[in-house]
Amino acid sequence: MGVVPFPVLFAVDDDASSLRDIERELVDRYARSYRVVCASSAQEAMVELEALAAAGEDVALVLSAQRLSQTTGGELLGKVRDLHAHAQRGLLIEWGSWGDGQTAGEIFEAMARRQIEYYVIRPSQSPDELFHQSVSTFLLEWAHARRVSPHTVHIVSESWTGRGQELKEVLGRCAVPHAFLLADSPRGRAVVAESGNGEPLPLVVFPNGTVLADPTNLELASAAGATIDPDRREYDVIIVGGGPAGLSAAVYGASEGFRTLVVDDGGIGGQATSSSLIRNYLGFPRGVSGRRLAESAYEQAWVFGAKFAFMHDATAIRREGDRLHVALSDGGEVSAPAVILATGATYHRLGVPEIEALVGAGVFYGGPASEAPTTVDEEVYVVGGANSAGQAALHLAEYARRVTLVVRADSLEKGMSHYLVRQVEGTPNIDLRLGTEVVGGGGGGDGWLDRLVLRSRADGIAESIEADELFLMIGARPNTDWLPTELAYGDGGFIRTGVDLESDGAWPLEERRPFSLETSMPGVFAAGDVRHGSMNRVASAVGEGSIAIKLVHELFAAEQIHPRDRV
Ligand SMILES: Cc1cc2nc3c(=O)[nH]c(=O)nc-3n(C[C@H](O)[C@H](O)[C@H](O)COP(=O)(O)OP(=O)(O)OC[C@H]3O[C@@H](n4cnc5c(N)ncnc54)[C@H](O)[C@@H]3O)c2cc1C
Repeated sequence: MGVVPFPVLFAVDDDASSLRDIERELVDRYARSYRVVCASSAQEAMVELEALAAAGEDVALVLSAQRLSQTTGGELLGKVRDLHAHAQRGLLIEWGSWGDGQTAGEIFEAMARRQIEYYVIRPSQSPDELFHQSVSTFLLEWAHARRVSPHTVHIVSESWTGRGQELKEVLGRCAVPHAFLLADSPRGRAVVAESGNGEPLPLVVFPNGTVLADPTNLELASAAGATIDPDRREYDVIIVGGGPAGLSAAVYGASEGFRTLVVDDGGIGGQATSSSLIRNYLGFPRGVSGRRLAESAYEQAWVFGAKFAFMHDATAIRREGDRLHVALSDGGEVSAPAVILATGATYHRLGVPEIEALVGAGVFYGGPASEAPTTVDEEVYVVGGANSAGQAALHLAEYARRVTLVVRADSLEKGMSHYLVRQVEGTPNIDLRLGTEVVGGGGGGDGWLDRLVLRSRADGIAESIEADELFLMIGARPNTDWLPTELAYGDGGFIRTGVDLESDGAWPLEERRPFSLETSMPGVFAAGDVRHGSMNRVASAVGEGSIAIKLVHELFAAEQIHPRDRV
């Protein structure tokens, strides 16, 4: 067997002394695991990068000087993804140059056009830890996209759909890096031969050697490190939903000394885990994946002492005396004087049977968080006209040969922010099909999606086209089915709260007014996307989660509840 070459770290700069500094820093720190290749001009860089692509070598990172004699760093880096689909791209700038308007403008433009992932300050004297922090952040992103991070869990299954796909979703919801292998693929066969021992498929192989054969969701989540059992029955505050709103409430609740329980029917992060890159969340200038944000928030809540019960549905809520009781899907019950509903929303289904049968096998609901890097050279379709669909199309366009955005409305502006419309329209490998809907499709011999039927809403003409992947992002409904019908709901079934309730007499108490996020069931609050009038953004969900805890304090003061005195 041939030796697998090290992945390449590539740098280009036509200033010889500066290139030497970069090469020195890269070689000194990374030469044991990566091969460092440097080029002294844009032309030489393109020739080298093409040769590396032709030789099938893996390029992990390309760093380019901001200004090169024949082109700009942004333009050069913009071409890298066509050759090396998973390469991270950093624009090298001088320390302090972000203060000059031109550099700031170039960085903004290059990021908006997705030519670069981020900028990097040139290394100065060795060892330059700031430079290495940037490089290792790039390498971590590359390792995740390439599925070479050491903690990857492998699922081996006979087909793309069915139980294997369900297990994949469970790991996704628990924010565990994972890779899916078909049992009759070369890697699938190798993993089964090494770990299978004749066990039934699907097989889940953990980095520590643990092997689970056809596990239940609970067994899988537990083996992946998720806590699944509430360790007590009485809490000060119970949060239903572990998305951004619930996690924020957990961090604030636990940090302020409340005995806090988060119940979620899956794992952490909610819808946010399907967002590949959230660029508008405060404090993350290079953007943050929803999964990474959820992992950090979970850790933060956990170190403050919040408890989690994953893989549990809340199935009912009722008041008994001064406590609210939440029933769980395992038949158990937990109680607290305050409950925060942070159950978010779920995507509408397309309702086309041939498409529904291929969910997991080329058809995905929600954004392409983990699928995007696997769409290199593919024909990809995204259905939806809102911001999330626009973001998904842009993200996919970095890998796929062509992305077609299918929108029912006759204009993008109706549902998408202006900045995203600009980016979508300015991306050469994104096509737009306005006034169009998906009405059919089917899979090939391997059971994976291979065609879609699109129909024009104007003339009703249907057309069958080739497609490798379909991402559906067609609106959402609130997760409220389990709640009492007497709770006050607004348009679309979202939960009404606060002053909204007083205007039409839905608030039942005379002795006090509702708190701003309180529902028509006193002591029960709603935060995030499930709430009528919410902003449907991570930041607003996080804000509401923290406000809900402040209101729980006020509730306890008003009702003279002293939670910490209870045993
Ligand atoms: C693809 C995509 C891209 C996005 N991009 C961005 C972006 O760039 N910027 C941005 O600001 N926003 C973005 N959003 C929106 C953002 O993710 C949501 O606004 C945010 O996640 C809402 O948080 P939440 O906590 O209210 O609800 P959710 O994230 O929906 O979480 C709710 C949780 O509650 C659980 N749950 C539901 N019912 C029950 C029950 N009965 N029992 C137990 N658990 C239950 C759910 O399984 C889920 O885990 C994006 C959304 C998507 C889908």
